[in-house]
Amino acid sequence: MKLLSIFCVFVGLGAAAPSSQQDKVSYDGYRVYRVTTVNEVAGDVADFQLRMAGLSAIELNHRHISDEETTIDIAIPPGQVDDFDAHPFSATILSEDLGVDIAAEGALGNYQRLNESDQKVPSPSWFDSYHAYEDHVQFWSDLQTSFPDNSELIEAGVSFEGQPIQGIHLWGSGGRDSKPAVFFNGNVHAREWITSMVAEYLIYQIVIGYENDATVQSALDNYDFYVLPVVNPDGFVYTQTTDRLWRKNRQTRDNTTEVGTDINRNWSVGFGGEGSSLDPGSETFSGYQPGDAPETAALMAYALKLADNNGVKLYIDWHSYAQTILLSYGYTCTEFPDNIQDQIRLAAGTAQAIAQSYNTTFVYGPGCLVLYQSSGNGRDFVTDVVDAELGWGIELRDTSYGFMLPANQILPSSVEIWDGMKYLWANM
Ligand SMILES: [Zn+2]
Repeated sequence: MKLLSIFCVFVGLGAAAPSSQQDKVSYDGYRVYRVTTVNEVAGDVADFQLRMAGLSAIELNHRHISDEETTIDIAIPPGQVDDFDAHPFSATILSEDLGVDIAAEGALGNYQRLNESDQKVPSPSWFDSYHAYEDHVQFWSDLQTSFPDNSELIEAGVSFEGQPIQGIHLWGSGGRDSKPAVFFNGNVHAREWITSMVAEYLIYQIVIGYENDATVQSALDNYDFYVLPVVNPDGFVYTQTTDRLWRKNRQTRDNTTEVGTDINRNWSVGFGGEGSSLDPGSETFSGYQPGDAPETAALMAYALKLADNNGVKLYIDWHSYAQTILLSYGYTCTEFPDNIQDQIRLAAGTAQAIAQSYNTTFVYGPGCLVLYQSSGNGRDFVTDVVDAELGWGIELRDTSYGFMLPANQILPSSVEIWDGMKYLWANM
């Protein structure tokens, strides 16, 4: 099998820069293309990137469809569209203006509670819009307060800029820390806003459903849920204040002006291999040593703590936007976990359950085969070192709007994943 060599996913592609510290980066007039003839014309992703090197293009995503076919989504700044069109690639236009898409996400919503005077239960209107980081923190706190006997706030560690990496731990009838763990990480990549919203929808449904919904009750009685909806708080805040398309953390390093390490290339399994980069300017910069990003170090330690408690049954690292259930491994395309057939069966059932409400298609399989090779990622670590039964990543909606998923898709995206999770928890 011919492996795609995607060592530096984003290297050579420029990025827009803010004109001053306070200004937001503007993507007005950026046109987004999906290039469909990458292999046919360029051979592979790296060669495509070389051909784009003269443009200030931003690669948003790429996807390994088969050995013969890769698609790349790329944003071209105004003024360079003719230069891009001069290249011999076939491409469809995903968006005429990225700036319009960002505006169409809508303003960040206000946080409301169901009832201010009684219990501080968050209102379901939470899922009608995206929110500022401090409102997410309030949401977790209120949700915990409304479920006092079966939950606690948790903190896995501290980000590069000193913000706590927070979340919530939920448990059922067996009591605190009595069952194998379900461990969820959201917003590892800062710009993937839908991931924290969906993670929050899942914990919200568990909290409000535990008393009356037998499926929820049995899931929570069987597993301890540890959910960290925003594990990259520095990057997440930066996407709201400065650059909507920021991906990495906000870590600075000696001898470079480049900022940010890719938290999901900084885990120890497969560290530094294909699908990660040692170049601090790359969007997939792995760091120089496993766990030298404080966020990754915190997550590795937390996962190992859960392993010592009662083991990890299921880990899901939530991403967007490929609509794909990624099984281990990402760092190798030729080796697979021993239980891969069971995992594929569960992923197939999960994808089927996800499709039941809105017919949304989710592809599934080992990440290296169904998306692209990525080394030093969380799911491989949790599979190999933590010895979780299921070490997964799930790429949420959607394949046309990309990262700028309109706010009116938060709820349907959440509902379909809730359907998928209920299937998975009942059958794993
Ligand atoms: Zn991601």
